[in-house]
Amino acid sequence: MFTHILVRYDEIALKKRNRAWFEDLLLSNIRSSVAGVASARKFRGRMEVELKSADSLDDVVNRLSLIPGISSFSPAFRLPLDAEWNEIVEKAVELAKIAEKDGTKVLKVICTRSNKAYPGNSIDIQKKLAGAVLSIMDKVFTVSMKDYNFALEIEIDSSGIYLFSKRIAGTRGLPVGCAGEYLSLLSGGIDSPVASYLTMCRGGKVNYLSFYSPPYTGEESMKKLEDLARHLKKYQGVSTKLYIAPLIDIQLLIRARCFEGYRTILFRRMMFKIAERIATENGYQALITGESLSQVASQTIENLTCINDAVKTMPVIRPLITYDKTDTIKISEKIGAFPISIRNCPDSCTAFLPKSPIIKGKLDRVLAEEKKLEPEIFDLLEESLKNLKVIEI
Ligand code: ATP
Ligand code: MG
Repeated sequence: MFTHILVRYDEIALKKRNRAWFEDLLLSNIRSSVAGVASARKFRGRMEVELKSADSLDDVVNRLSLIPGISSFSPAFRLPLDAEWNEIVEKAVELAKIAEKDGTKVLKVICTRSNKAYPGNSIDIQKKLAGAVLSIMDKVFTVSMKDYNFALEIEIDSSGIYLFSKRIAGTRGLPVGCAGEYLSLLSGGIDSPVASYLTMCRGGKVNYLSFYSPPYTGEESMKKLEDLARHLKKYQGVSTKLYIAPLIDIQLLIRARCFEGYRTILFRRMMFKIAERIATENGYQALITGESLSQVASQTIENLTCINDAVKTMPVIRPLITYDKTDTIKISEKIGAFPISIRNCPDSCTAFLPKSPIIKGKLDRVLAEEKKLEPEIFDLLEESLKNLKVIEI
């Protein structure tokens, strides 16, 4: 069975900046993601993942399909450059047998010979290999360079000979870490994990911040957040932090002093203020949320305006702003976050939902409501930051 996986990445992205830096970043993300089950190395415009055991193929394929920055990859047989011709044919036939099971009938052999020291030329190798496969698998395949449904590829590089037949699409995008570091507001819901993942796909390294409100939110809610952050880490490879900030005292003060309809807007503003402080102190360049236009009362354009005003020094990125919930759920399922997201645990905002929230909040009213929290709110914000829990993920 397959021993290696050949990994390709988009060169368009690489041209823009320093190529080696991009490659090293992607390689290190791949290494972290497949740690324990495979190793990885780079060579001339490609990367190669070597499986520790053939049994882990499906697992590694699954992990690679989700790492941002990979354009495609192929489970492959790797032979040394001095492999005998019959060894090459043997592997080609193994591939042909897999293809036969898939019901393909028309074969094309494609040879890429970047190692010019290797004897022969690509066209001759293609013809010779196609002939060898046909002679062994008599009457199974015909050959066509145009109308084929089974491409058997042989790549001869400076370090070895690779044979493969499938190109599996990667996530594309950019390697995590090439576009700075961010702080994602992670609730236990469906949207914020997806927003975090989409940010990674554009090269952002994501850290997480969740608010909790004991005793309304308990151990299960904490466990859920940690599970989500751990799960999402698979896609960025590199380690991350989950910050847990208490919100309960702030929520109680808001509940006691402010107009009920404005409660959620005020909670969110306080979350944003705390998030901005943590981001600034740690050099994170933006906040990420899972907000989507008009999805719920707190996400009307008027209320988003009121909430957004709380952040003064950095952008708030909302990857899902125009997404339909169905599309978000599809991504959530694809990245495997969905089963965690739908675990039924209370969130720190659901504990204090107003009966009839304001739909079209007005900023001057919000600021007037917020004034009612002074001066105690200043100490409570500091208190929340002081009691911040940081979990290394
Ligand atoms: P999600 O599915 O991500 O919870 P949602 O559609 O339920 O989103 P809201 O609950 O209104 O929407 O939250 C909007 C965004 O605010 C979330 O996507 C998240 O980024 C942030 N947020 C909400 N609650 C919390 C929380 N307890 N801790 C951290 N961030 C939160
Ligand atoms: Mg939510």
